[in-house]
Amino acid sequence: MKVGFIGLGNMGAPMAANLARAGHEVVGHDIAAPCPGGVAPAASAAAAAAGAAVVLTMLPDGAILARVAAEVIPTMAPGAVLLDCSTVDVAAARTVAGLAAAAGLGFVDAPVSGGVGGARAGTLTFMAGGSAEDFARVGPLLAAMGRRAVHCGAAGAGQAAKICNNMILGATMIVTCEAIALADRLGLDRQRLYDVVSTSSGQSWSMTAYCPAPGVGPESPADHGYRPGFAAELMLKDLRLAQAAAAAADADTPVGALALDLYRRFVEEEDGRGKDFSAMLPRLAARRRGG
Ligand code: NAD
Repeated sequence: MKVGFIGLGNMGAPMAANLARAGHEVVGHDIAAPCPGGVAPAASAAAAAAGAAVVLTMLPDGAILARVAAEVIPTMAPGAVLLDCSTVDVAAARTVAGLAAAAGLGFVDAPVSGGVGGARAGTLTFMAGGSAEDFARVGPLLAAMGRRAVHCGAAGAGQAAKICNNMILGATMIVTCEAIALADRLGLDRQRLYDVVSTSSGQSWSMTAYCPAPGVGPESPADHGYRPGFAAELMLKDLRLAQAAAAAADADTPVGALALDLYRRFVEEEDGRGKDFSAMLPRLAARRRGG
């Protein structure tokens, strides 16, 4: 398939390389990053999009997606599909879907889970929104970049699934870290707490697959000085998107709002920037009640 790939950063570059490796003809464009091996460079986003059956975007946020979409939609071939794999706000995804439809193009929002490691290994999970027909058309590309693709519903449903998942993750990580910090103060050994919780009703991915305590559970960023992994500022971005969506949809999400406030303080006012999001544990363990 002929693919235009726009946004060749930490995630986009290995994803584009996997598409090329699978035999697709990939033309790439980024305002700063170079094209990875196997991907032909184009001078502009519009040039990368011209004649492509699918134009894939992997960009920082919804405002940039809107700008790039305005640039590529007029040059895309009739019947082509715009496939956005960035994490953006639900409203931006729906707006771009409307612009694509008005131009006779398909649109799929397919944000990813799995991080840079998953992008390199081709093991990402995609959560997709769009028509069944458009989802089927991008299927071979998703299969070349990931292990699993879930069709969640109409345009925007992929972004909705992503922010709901990450709101659970952010809040669960915080309370897991709180529980470990409380166990410390109670004189309860972290390994013993893990042994109980990982097989009890407090069990979660944050505890059992990504334990924030160094030396406990499977290997995780905690075992490498909290080098990300999944950076605290990326969690902050996703929690902001969740709260924006909750406000727009009039949904009551008090714990999500509190998780956002804690990660905002951690990243913007404390020393969380550049650390894994599980570094909430040393932050909380160092503080006293109400601090
Ligand atoms: P990144 O900042 O490394 O890459 C974004 C790229 O977009 C950059 O290379 C930048 O130069 C390029 N870009 C910006 N504006 C552009 C424009 N107008 N035209 C062309 N290129 C432009 O970010 P990333 O880590 O690759 O993340 C990309 C998206 O994936 C984000 O939405 C992020 O939230 C999401 N995501 C990231 C991770 C992760 O672990 N890094 C995990 C899941 C989802």
